[in-house]
Parts: sequence; structure tokens; C-alpha cells
Amino acid sequence: MAISRQDVLDWITAVAAVLDENKDYLTQLDSAIGDADHGMNMSRGFRAVLGKLPTIGDKDIGTIFKTVGMTLVSTVGGAAGPLYGTFFMQAGAASAGKQELAATDWSTALEAAINGVMMRGKAVLGDKTMIDSLTPALEALKAAIAEQQPWPRPWNDRPRPPNRVCWRRFRWSRVRAAPAIWGRSAGHQDPGATSSYLILKTAAQTWADC
Ligand code: ADP
Ligand code: MG
Repeated sequence: MAISRQDVLDWITAVAAVLDENKDYLTQLDSAIGDADHGMNMSRGFRAVLGKLPTIGDKDIGTIFKTVGMTLVSTVGGAAGPLYGTFFMQAGAASAGKQELAATDWSTALEAAINGVMMRGKAVLGDKTMIDSLTPALEALKAAIAEQQPWPRPWNDRPRPPNRVCWRRFRWSRVRAAPAIWGRSAGHQDPGATSSYLILKTAAQTWADC
């Protein structure tokens, strides 16, 4: 099994469609706890990415991911732009020169991407951010690889719906830092965790037959 360059391009294309379909939903989630722009931000960014794809279709997977990341940094804005930009740029650095990704390569790239987001944003699991979707998905992928299960089927259903992982309140350190956000976010599903869930779920679906 391996994910080819074309499989990666298919994933990115599918993500653009999924985020566009979920634009209003993501904005609605962001309106409860933030400034109601997450859906617009993500859909604008991935539309710009779609415009870049024809110029990178023949490049290696590292270059494809890096281009996606740079495009998101320059078009998404807000907190999510630099964070998703870092995610894809770090995934790109970890897959530099590769024409295809084995399951372990994808796990390595995903881990580098998540570490990049954590270094940049300083959030950890439970802080009610996109990390709450990304980290459990990586753990599930690693477990599937360790158990030598045929890939990626065991991972397919595993990126967890964020309503299960993101309904916690901010950790106490964050509560002290941002009581207003804590008060507003309690009981609400995080928009960035939801977009991350959609992005990884789309990967699992797109690559189901790899
Ligand atoms: P903004 O917050 O600037 O309006 P968006 O609405 O596009 O940007 O994105 C908000 C999402 O970004 C949040 O729901 C959260 O998941 C994610 N996010 C915000 N800060 C961080 C952080 N420090 N680390 C990880 N994710 C973060
Ligand atoms: Mg916002």
C-alpha cells in the first residue's frame, strides 16, 4: 500500500470541496465562541490552494504539501492560517523528495505537522483547539501501524468526531488567562477541531483503497 502523488492531490481537492460544503457550519461554530470567520477563512484558503494545484501536479509530495502550506499562510488569516500553514509546511519538510508515502511515512509526516502546530500555537491536548482532533487521529494511526493492521482501513473511522473530544472546558491555566473565552466556549464544539476532523476524515476516505 502507498499513497501516490495523485492520491495526495485528490485529498487536497476533496478537502477544498468538503470545507466549502461546511463553510456555514464552521462559521456557525465560530460564532458561538469566536468571531464567526472560520468557515470563510478555510474555504477561501483552500480555494486558493485549488488554483495552485495545476502548477505543482508533477512535483514531489514534499513540494505539494509545502505549496499548500505557503498558500494557506498567505490567504487564510486569523489564527488558523499560520497554524494550518505550519501543519502542511512541516508535513512537506517530512516528505521532501517523496513520490509516494507508505503508512509509516504518512505517520511521520502527520506527527511532524502536529508538532509544528503545537510549537507554533503552544496548545496541548485538551485546550480545545484543533490539537484535540489531530492528536487522537495520529495515535490511532500509530496504533494501527504497530498492530500491523492492513492500512488504512483501521484508521478510517478513527479521526474522532470533535464533539466527543472538544466539549471540555479550557484547562485551568487557560481559564486564568482568558476567563471570557472560557465562559463562552464551555459546552461548545471548537471550529478548528471540527475543520481538522473534516480534513483528516477526508484523507481516510480518499485513501481508503490505497
Ligand atoms: P481566529 O481565531 O483568528 O478567528 P479562525 O476562526 O480561523 O481564526 O480559527 C480558530 C481556530 O483556530 C480555533 O477554533 C482553534 O481550533 C484554532 N486555534 C486557535 N488558537 C490555536 C492554538 N494556539 N493552537 C492550535 N489551534 C488554535
Ligand atoms: Mg475566528
